[in-house]
Amino acid sequence: MAMNLSKHVEVKDNPGMLYMTRRTMNYVFKIAWKEKKIIFFYYILKNIGYVLAEMKMLLLPKLLVDEIVAITEGAALEAHLKNAIIYVALTVLAESLSKLLVDTAEKKIAYYNVFFERIFVYGLSEKSMTMDFEHTEDPTVLNQQNKAKEGISWYSDGVTGMLDSFFNVIYNFFLMIASVTIFLVYCPLILPVQIIGMAIITYFNAKKQKVHAKAFLKLGKVNRLFGYYLFDLAEAKYGKDIRLYDSVDMLTSRSKEFGKESVEIFRERAEGCLKYDYPSQITNAFRDAISYAYMGYQALIGLLTLGDLTMCISAASRLFQSLLWLGMNAQDLMEKCGYAYHYLVYLEYSDNLSKGDKEVKDEKHEIVFENVSFKYPRSDEYVLKNINFKITSGEHLSIVGLNGAGKTTFIKLLCRLYDVTEGRILIDGIDIRDYSTEEYRKLFAVVFQDFQLFAFSLKDNIAMGRADEPLNEKKIEEALKLSGLYEDAVNLDEGLDTRLFKSFDEHGTELSGGQRQKAAISRALYRNAPIVILDEPTAALDPLAEYEIYKKFDALVGGKSAIYISHRLSSCKFCDRIAVFADNTIKECGTHDELVNIKDGLYAEMFAAQAQYYVDAVS
Ligand code: ADP
Repeated sequence: MAMNLSKHVEVKDNPGMLYMTRRTMNYVFKIAWKEKKIIFFYYILKNIGYVLAEMKMLLLPKLLVDEIVAITEGAALEAHLKNAIIYVALTVLAESLSKLLVDTAEKKIAYYNVFFERIFVYGLSEKSMTMDFEHTEDPTVLNQQNKAKEGISWYSDGVTGMLDSFFNVIYNFFLMIASVTIFLVYCPLILPVQIIGMAIITYFNAKKQKVHAKAFLKLGKVNRLFGYYLFDLAEAKYGKDIRLYDSVDMLTSRSKEFGKESVEIFRERAEGCLKYDYPSQITNAFRDAISYAYMGYQALIGLLTLGDLTMCISAASRLFQSLLWLGMNAQDLMEKCGYAYHYLVYLEYSDNLSKGDKEVKDEKHEIVFENVSFKYPRSDEYVLKNINFKITSGEHLSIVGLNGAGKTTFIKLLCRLYDVTEGRILIDGIDIRDYSTEEYRKLFAVVFQDFQLFAFSLKDNIAMGRADEPLNEKKIEEALKLSGLYEDAVNLDEGLDTRLFKSFDEHGTELSGGQRQKAAISRALYRNAPIVILDEPTAALDPLAEYEIYKKFDALVGGKSAIYISHRLSSCKFCDRIAVFADNTIKECGTHDELVNIKDGLYAEMFAAQAQYYVDAVS
């Protein structure tokens, strides 16, 4: 189910701590309320448990001590003993009930944390999979993605981490009010000492929090690189190159550099915090010493009963704790929200590609490039310049050119992975920016050079598409037959249900390069889109398999439009036209026979150089 988590979000570029806290909490409350209201009930239960525990510590000992002192001073035994027994019973009851409530609530809340964690993971991957393609190549966005991932999980402890801190702030606020009230009634003069002590401690805690936040921002980039070295490179797909290029030493030394950098950030953080820990502890020791001395004196001169003294001592530690925790929880909450805010920033990355709403007409499709120029984002160089080109419906076009000539970029523009920098691309006379993205994508079945297969069953890999469309087994088999993979596929351990790769399933299969390419071609055929684009589709195929594909090309793409990028010029002969890319534009265009006859032509030169290798295969 597609979830649109980002609709609740509104973020600023350089936000203050309070703004981030407000936005993030707003978001967290909305998600929690929408997905699991019951979590608030468990927070209330937990706080009732805490209140019971406080009553046991603050109130009941005073009542009990006063009863016992009354008995020792000779008051009527019967009434006081009865009261004392009731207070003992209440103490036991408060203790066990408090534990029961807190334990139950914590267990439930921990479970809901996992639930919310999943929701955030879905949100993050959905955003990563749907954001403008150009973002996926932007290091700033990728660093932000890492900060979002870490910020919403272990740095903030997720929804329940933030709700915990929030409810702790509220709880400690009320505990502070209760402790202050006790002092106001029994020992008002000690309040200023408590408050000054706590203000100093809170100041040091705020400093510590800044040290943490600074480290987090630095870690965003370093951790991503470190993660790349540590986890990504351990993946099987890098195994061959690492071994055969003997690059373990080089990779290890690079990873150690980043390891060092992140250890250094953690060291700075630890030392930065310790600098503030020591003065904070000393302040607290002074606060305790002054308070206890003053209250003891008050009891000695008879202004406090023994029960009052017990309660005031408890209240002193409660006030200390509540103020300390109030400050710490408030800082903790802001810190966590500051981290989690990076998740909102990530969700909110706006897409640059405009979104139209026009539907694609079910008709023959004519493609027109009109004065198209393009440079990649963050680059000043034009990769394509002034392209004017038309591809008629049903035409089979071959694209050739040296590496880096812009062939793949031409396809990326046509598929609208990027928008043109200048000019426009029209399909059926309509600017492609005006089509709805979903509608527009239906036009294409593309096999890129760097296509990816996924660790799902072979069947799922062929039938990739909408979850709500049932797989059509017959169509999958036909696509496999056309690409020449069918025989191999049915002989796999679990046939078409065999999972690709062994990373998740020991019965999974590792396809050969050629089989992988055939699987990718089958995926494009299954899609049955009106425009088929194959970017070097035969690079990993042996000459025989390649020849088979050419022979069947008409059957493969039928009457559809097809664009076929190839380095093997002999394979272009069967296309209606060949476009030769060079010097950022389409240098030559025509049939094979026309192009080979251009004197000093680029195609003629390239063909002559290659002909000797392929002439046999296609003749
Ligand atoms: P071809 O497919 O003809 O080999 P490409 O279209 O892949 O060429 O690349 C054309 C030029 O664009 C090359 O100089 C390449 O380095 C550059 N290029 C390709 N992709 C990107 C990108 N994502 N960002 C910046 N430059 C790119």
